[in-house]
Amino acid sequence: MRPLTRLLRVGGVELGAGRPVRVQTMGNLPLTEVGANIAQIERCAALGCEIFRLALPDDFLLPFFGEIIAHSPLPVIADIHFHPSLLRKALEAGAAGARINPGNVGSSTDWSETVRLFEDLGAVMRIGVNGGSLNKEALKLHGHTAEALVASAQEWSNRLYDLGFYRFKVSLKSSDVRTTVQAYRLFSKVSDIPLHIGLTEAGPLPEGLIKSSAALGTLLLEGIGDTLRISLTAPPEEEVKAAWELLSSLNLRRRWPEVISCPLCARSSYPFTELLPKLLPRIKSLSLPIKVAFMGCEVNGPGEAREAEIGLAFSKGKAFLFRKGEIVERGDPEPMVERLLQVLEEMARDPS
Ligand code: SF4
Repeated sequence: MRPLTRLLRVGGVELGAGRPVRVQTMGNLPLTEVGANIAQIERCAALGCEIFRLALPDDFLLPFFGEIIAHSPLPVIADIHFHPSLLRKALEAGAAGARINPGNVGSSTDWSETVRLFEDLGAVMRIGVNGGSLNKEALKLHGHTAEALVASAQEWSNRLYDLGFYRFKVSLKSSDVRTTVQAYRLFSKVSDIPLHIGLTEAGPLPEGLIKSSAALGTLLLEGIGDTLRISLTAPPEEEVKAAWELLSSLNLRRRWPEVISCPLCARSSYPFTELLPKLLPRIKSLSLPIKVAFMGCEVNGPGEAREAEIGLAFSKGKAFLFRKGEIVERGDPEPMVERLLQVLEEMARDPS
């Protein structure tokens, strides 16, 4: 049962309170490259990204930051480290919210005025607790543990509550899968604050994807997480695609066809190992939230892939097009592959 968190609005995007888990990513280009940043956000939006984060490391970048936001199709969150004074400027430049790292913004900062501005502008804050930059007290008490992440998040949440501010979410990221999972579990037991889930410094593909899927998949299956980012040392477009594949694999949200395929073995008369990656861009370009199967033989073909709405099974030099486990057409493999793609495109045009 998913713990019900509070509702938040990030620009026009609602999250928490049982809303669909929202997909985020973060830009990786210098802010001075305004056109390239806007194009990157547009590409991510086309892939289903719903909230976009940009690092804002310095004052002099504010004009570029504002220009990007002015043309962004997505709400933009400013990522701010070390300079709490930039929060106000980021919101005034049009950011829908900001992420701060409590470990490096200084515990002596007076937040009352900043928080009022967030309230006035309807902006959202993320308390982004990070295992690599925990505050000293939490570290002293708990060491590098999940408990330290939770203590740090609670301290900052309480500080905002004391100022009468509730428009915020929390993340408790570590680069360790078990620590991250444990921290979110502990925090979600004691709080209804919406949670941004992720694993920090997860790494390149495929390691980063595997680690993130292990951590975030576990949490999502337990109903924990209102928005997610799969952090990868890879372009943000890859993060967005990975997030959707994860949500789709858990039956939480599906945007394009989910492809299921057998691993192939000596029974297959038509090994499609090389063919399938070439078909994927055409299949994934369709706005069709169904499962599509590719099976290497008739032994486990349509039957094993019965959960797929449509698929192909290959046997004795022929291909069989099946729908919901029943064979509906047969023919030579290559024309049948093209036939499957045609049927998928027809289904995407007319989902009824
Ligand atoms: S579906 Fe057929 S070809 Fe594919 S792995 Fe199973 S037995 Fe082998």
